[in-house]
Amino acid sequence: MDPVLVVHGGAWAMPDDMVEAHICGVTNALAAGWNLLNRGGSALDAVEEAVVIMEDDETFDAGRGSFLNRDGKVQLDALIMDGATLRAGGVGCVEHLRNPVRAARKILSESPHVYFVGEGAERFAAEHGLPLCSNDDLIIPREVERLGEYQAKIPTFAAQNAARMGHPPSGSELFAPPPTDDPTISHDTVGAVALDRQGNIAAATSTGGTLNKAPGRLGDSSLIGCGCYADNASAAASTTGWGEPIMKLVLAKWTADRIAAGNLPAWAAQEAMNYLKQRVNGHGGIIVLDAKGNFGIAHNTPRMAWAYKTLHQQEAGIERPQ
Ligand code: ASP
Repeated sequence: MDPVLVVHGGAWAMPDDMVEAHICGVTNALAAGWNLLNRGGSALDAVEEAVVIMEDDETFDAGRGSFLNRDGKVQLDALIMDGATLRAGGVGCVEHLRNPVRAARKILSESPHVYFVGEGAERFAAEHGLPLCSNDDLIIPREVERLGEYQAKIPTFAAQNAARMGHPPSGSELFAPPPTDDPTISHDTVGAVALDRQGNIAAATSTGGTLNKAPGRLGDSSLIGCGCYADNASAAASTTGWGEPIMKLVLAKWTADRIAAGNLPAWAAQEAMNYLKQRVNGHGGIIVLDAKGNFGIAHNTPRMAWAYKTLHQQEAGIERPQ
């Protein structure tokens, strides 16, 4: 098979001054993954390497530089899945790993289990040779500032929520999410899907989740079939965006099922975005690839960083025409 690699770096209303860093980040990730694929490496290795590059890039909401949760800590989630065997590895709410996708890969390859969270995930990673870091190593000043600004606005959000609900602020609105359906809120999760020369597909997704999330909150990104999925018989997919609506629809698997039913990935990706908007008023983006090398990239946010490479073509962008 001719290899194919597609990556994304989050779907949101990215401002103009952040476009270059995003294009550069997804292009670097593409180069790292392609280097492996082109030499006959596996799709699984390629998606892992592509995602590691974006976890290491502070532009994205993955690894160091991720959004902070309500307590001012970084909490990371990641999943990797092999379309040939349906083996998968996931980690949730880890606080001491620079590259959670590496831990996810270790789980896939070396554990009878599929998913580890928190301290147990970190212990597994350390026992399998991955270095642990302090949470402070994952925090950058930009995100401390972003959280501070956001938390300062919470009383305003609470008043707006109370007004919407038609009663005076009672306190409970403080915990009602501010306008999380607002596509201008940054969603910089990263993901990759790949097809290798052996004809196998794989997918990986990694995230720091949403800004000011409650400690212990897990989004769609690391849940099988929600933020990530891979099956040679249907497709490999990685999603990004507001996680709660995406997980309610099990959106990555929903999209793969459309492809198993005979539809093309480009159509299924666009349909997934329509479904997300119409069914639960969600916003986000998706990349999807089948085992024949057909792929689709779609988002219903103003922008999404994406890049793809085949033997004959390479492209990167921040808007995908419908
Ligand atoms: N889907 C992620 C989450 O809800 C956020 C994102 O895609 O940026 O955790």
